[in-house]
Amino acid sequence: MQDTVLVVEDEADVVDLLRYNLERADFEVQIAMTGDLGLAMAREKRPDLIVLDLMLPGMNGHEVCRALKGDPNTEIIPIVMLTAKGEPNERVKGLELGADDYVTKPFSPRELVLRVQALLKRHRLVPRTEIVEVAGIYLNKTNFEARLDGKRFNLTTTEFKLLSLMLERRGRTLTRETLLSDVWGYQNAAIDTRTVDTHMRRLREKLGKYSGRLETIRGEGYRFNAVAES
Ligand code: CA
Repeated sequence: MQDTVLVVEDEADVVDLLRYNLERADFEVQIAMTGDLGLAMAREKRPDLIVLDLMLPGMNGHEVCRALKGDPNTEIIPIVMLTAKGEPNERVKGLELGADDYVTKPFSPRELVLRVQALLKRHRLVPRTEIVEVAGIYLNKTNFEARLDGKRFNLTTTEFKLLSLMLERRGRTLTRETLLSDVWGYQNAAIDTRTVDTHMRRLREKLGKYSGRLETIRGEGYRFNAVAES
């Protein structure tokens, strides 16, 4: 599958140069010509990487970068900032805001493509499949980081496994036996299934406004409702 690069840049000739070179390197390229549109497209389309110009009409590159890196839904998308020559402070500021790399204009397209490829390669060390996000709940299975509306919260290892399973199979009812087998590794359903109920109760307490999404389906088991209004 092709990787998608979102280019946020208002200068048509730079857009053309980037599009040509990225497509030649087998990327799918999306273009946003304002900062606001770039932010909206990043949130909606979830590109694999963003090339973000600093000087943009409306929201500038720093503001877009800050918004993307401050949102658990988009913070993992790597960003390469583009900035004009002779603005050393801009580089520092961009990196402080969470940009992952930085290229100075005028740039060599070949160098930019290499940077994009290197950044994606580095980024793959945390594969996207290791991130589970539903509603305002974010789980990173690589480092067991859990966030609720962007704020970190603590889960025990078992709670983490239980919640990630419920989120991955959201909308489906999971029996206590299935959960015991898949979360606890018990093959024998004779083990007290109330263990599951106890953990679900604790999990609900930790989920705050999302607790209602973790539904008890009487006589069947549990289901995470991904569409309910919380
Ligand atoms: Ca620009």
